Amino acid sequence: MRIILLGPPASGKGTQAKRLMDRLGVPQISTGDMLRAARAAGTALGREADEFMKAGRLVPDSVVIGLVGERLAEADAQAGFILDGFPRTVPQAEALDALLTSKAMPLTSVLEIRVPRDLLVERAVLRRTDVRTGQIYHLKYSPPPPDAELEHRADDQEDKVTQRLSDYEAITSALLPYYEAKGLLKTVDGVGELDEVTDRIASALEPGR
Ligand code: AMP
Repeated sequence: MRIILLGPPASGKGTQAKRLMDRLGVPQISTGDMLRAARAAGTALGREADEFMKAGRLVPDSVVIGLVGERLAEADAQAGFILDGFPRTVPQAEALDALLTSKAMPLTSVLEIRVPRDLLVERAVLRRTDVRTGQIYHLKYSPPPPDAELEHRADDQEDKVTQRLSDYEAITSALLPYYEAKGLLKTVDGVGELDEVTDRIASALEPGR
């Protein structure tokens, strides 16, 4: 299973990728998580990414392509992976194609999670992460336990979310026809209970669907 989860910010990519990882037994590779870890560790790459992330803008292609290239070379990724938040631009998708072709590891499916825009803003603004476990909660729909140590991402403030949504529509959505033309694109409805959405994704991934 070599899968890409595509979708706008707060469509549920990260949450669903974590759930699918358990079901499918392949790692989740999230460029957002990797960049946040680099930033927290204070590496040069993390410092470079920080200004873009704080503004809700895309980090330069060369930075994320390099990160993904290194991650895909690790042992656990040889059995498959779920890419979450990468690629986000056509040059990133082309670089990924070249890399996977050189490894003879073609993509299995690209799944688009579709959620209406007004829901996305509400989801992001009320999203919280437990910094100790990485678990993602929503203050209204999926409330955290009382002992959670919650963080609200700076780029989940409403103005930053609006910026990220605009970039998704203007730049990342070009990946939908890109993967459609390759016969890889499947779309699932991302509105509903977490379990329902996971089931929809799992059945879209069944061979022959
Ligand atoms: P995410 O957690 O996927 O929403 O990513 C958080 C932030 O990291 C994004 O708003 C971007 O600033 C940056 N980022 C993550 N993945 C990428 C990517 N593939 N290309 C460019 N920037 C990215």
